[in-house]
Amino acid sequence: MGFRSQHNNARGPYKGGIRFHPEVSEEEVKALSMWMTWKCAVVDIPCGGGKGGVIVDPKKLSVGELERLAKGFARRITPIIGQEIDIPAPDVNTNSQIMTWMVDEYMKVANNKDIGTFTGKPIEKGGSKGREQATGLGGAYILEELAKEFGLDPKNTSIGVQGFGNVGYWFAKLADELGYKVVAISDSKGGITDENGLNIDNVYKYKKTNGSLQDFQNDGKTLHNITNEELLALEVDVLAPAAFENVINDNNANDIKAKYILELANGPITPSAEKVLLEADIVVIPDVLANAGGVTVSYFEWEQNKADSYWTEEEVFEKLKPIMAKAFKDTIKFSKKYDTDLRNGAYILAVNRVSKAMKK
Ligand code: NAD
Repeated sequence: MGFRSQHNNARGPYKGGIRFHPEVSEEEVKALSMWMTWKCAVVDIPCGGGKGGVIVDPKKLSVGELERLAKGFARRITPIIGQEIDIPAPDVNTNSQIMTWMVDEYMKVANNKDIGTFTGKPIEKGGSKGREQATGLGGAYILEELAKEFGLDPKNTSIGVQGFGNVGYWFAKLADELGYKVVAISDSKGGITDENGLNIDNVYKYKKTNGSLQDFQNDGKTLHNITNEELLALEVDVLAPAAFENVINDNNANDIKAKYILELANGPITPSAEKVLLEADIVVIPDVLANAGGVTVSYFEWEQNKADSYWTEEEVFEKLKPIMAKAFKDTIKFSKKYDTDLRNGAYILAVNRVSKAMKK
């Protein structure tokens, strides 16, 4: 069983990923499609909100079964998607290979050559340079804006990152390169911490060889292993949850000591936990802003496909930076104007943009 939800297209074609997961439900897909409407509006790209999902555990499928599932799903949604209508992309447990199978099948069934109907494709099949780094990089650009707004000095700003996958790795690496002190990082098996800062490239190499971060040595010194719960409760300036949803909840909200939380994952804080954080004057930079670099570069891919003209990685980054910076400033402006937190500020900004487009 699979779903495709189209929430709003007042600002442009529906846009959003397709996930393969045993716990996918119609309600979840609908909620996620709404989230995409606000996210695209916050960064002011001309796309609406969509999402898709299939109830399946892809780890139990052979490669052939996965290909047939991807193509079968693409065939069933072909009548309602298209380059100017609804543009799917990868999400949880789907990747550029799955997008390639889907776009091939779509073009066959729809009898056209619109490769811009799917984004997140490999470079060889019309993907965009810089898409892999995009979400982490977008988060790093937001971090720079945060530092300017709140007067943070990178070398004296400590960061803890939960998750060392695509988003967590790139964010940590780029924050390290920008001169911030990444003092802790974790994956599903646990994390490591060093108050002097970690060399992210070395941590990455270690994880590749050893399969986990446990017992990583920083400059010959074996580091202190920590659990994911301990990581979340560390005394850091910026905490960046980059793994999955609801990790900061009623059980641990009171333990959080970070001054700023950069939501790189989707929905890492439950609503009741957020109340606790806001009461403690912790600044939360919401997911619809902090992780919107990914969908922005997906939109760049679509633009490049339609023009049949491709940008260098530098061009992609040069175009992404001002978009993220403006989205941050707009969010701050709205939160000040309505005297509310940044999440509400981002939502007011997004709802305003969408409703203006709907009225027009
Ligand atoms: P990923 O699968 O590449 O990485 C997830 C990471 O989380 C892995 O390092 C994994 O070990 C870790 N993890 C799993 N269980 C954990 C646990 N219990 N505790 C700590 N870490 C755990 O996924 P990703 O693409 O990096 O996505 C991470 C989050 O960012 C998700 O919420 C996703 O929806 C969101 N996001 C991703 C993108 C993107 O472009 N990839 C864009 C927007 C939002």
